[in-house]
Amino acid sequence: MRTLAMPSGRSIPVLGQGTWGMGEDPGRKRQEADALRLGMDLGMTLIDTAEMYGEGGAEEVVAAALAGRRDQAFIVSKVYPHNAGRRAVQAACERSLARLGTGHIDLYLLHWRGSVPLAETLEGFEALRKAGKILDYGVSNFDVDDMREAAGAGVAVNQVLYNLARRGVEWDLLPWCRKHGMPLMAYSPLESSAAEQAALLGTPGLMRVAERHNASAAQIALAWLLHQEGVVVIPKAVSLRHVRENRAALDIVLNAEDIAELDAAFPPPRRATPLDMR
Ligand code: NAP
Repeated sequence: MRTLAMPSGRSIPVLGQGTWGMGEDPGRKRQEADALRLGMDLGMTLIDTAEMYGEGGAEEVVAAALAGRRDQAFIVSKVYPHNAGRRAVQAACERSLARLGTGHIDLYLLHWRGSVPLAETLEGFEALRKAGKILDYGVSNFDVDDMREAAGAGVAVNQVLYNLARRGVEWDLLPWCRKHGMPLMAYSPLESSAAEQAALLGTPGLMRVAERHNASAAQIALAWLLHQEGVVVIPKAVSLRHVRENRAALDIVLNAEDIAELDAAFPPPRRATPLDMR
């Protein structure tokens, strides 16, 4: 798996697996863990989760998927903003570690910015890093002004909504991250809601590129994100067919004609816009 360097010097895989929506229904947990395990077998060892997903249920699914193979995985989890105080974050992290059945989280993120002062959260993260409970820390849903405030505090990544239909980050946030050697993690790369996903994947320009590559529209949407410099992509899939397709997207090489056609169908931003969020 191709990797990117984080500011700490450690590396992060460019394609992983999301878990939002997992762990909510006990009857589906086995199927969800099987999907994550297949993804790991195929090389998608980065698993993105959060204490919020299924109120801890998703982290338990991740633990089930990683039984006996924790050392192969790169675990990303996130703390709720209301648990992100200097001391509260220590306790939240311990709860996540217990649910994940591991001694450390590879990358721990502030899920979005809340009322706790950022400096306090970052101090808490730094204490967790020194204690070996987390290896790197970062943020999510931070716009460029928030990033400027966080600069120089050891932040490893910013995880934001980014896909063909939502390209606002290309105006200022993505260039800022690149300038600072900080990978940007693209969440909802396929648009999580059914209606928005159908609109994205049904766009004629995207479908034409997919046809030329004998690929699905979803694979081209992922390949396009993977083509962007400094971007990590974390599609979520429970269907095993989707898991296989998503892994195969890594091997699709888009040419200049493909990129031009996708730019025509999904124009890049022409001005600054506020960051989109789920
Ligand atoms: P997504 O990965 O863009 O889309 C997930 C949906 O796409 C599911 O319905 C999945 O179906 C389907 N899908 C997956 N692969 C497919 C394929 N090859 N072809 C067609 N459909 C496919 O949306 P997401 O879950 O919102 O985002 C991904 C991950 O990012 C999340 O799971 C979470 O880990 C993270 N995230 C973070 C934030 C944040 O605030 N930091 C917000 C949102 C998401 P099946 O499951 O049925 O296979």
